[in-house]
Amino acid sequence: MLLIECPWCGARDEPEFTYGGEPAVRPGPATEVGDAEWTGYLYLRGNEKGAHRELWCHSAGCGQWFVMERDTVTHATIAVVRR
Ligand SMILES: [Zn+2]
Repeated sequence: MLLIECPWCGARDEPEFTYGGEPAVRPGPATEVGDAEWTGYLYLRGNEKGAHRELWCHSAGCGQWFVMERDTVTHATIAVVRR
């Protein structure tokens, strides 16, 4: 089981958290950007092997969102940042 370090509550088991995907910068309104850019924002993810940034919510705890950088191969946490 993955142990996740909540920046507010400390280390907790993964079932207390909800995965929110990769942090991405939202492009302009859909009416101002092309279909390819908007589709990329909505559906395409890097899913890199190795160091990876992810959004997590401590949904069964404090309810706060944060960014966790972890290694997807070893599951080692590299950094946790409050949003
Ligand atoms: Zn928390």
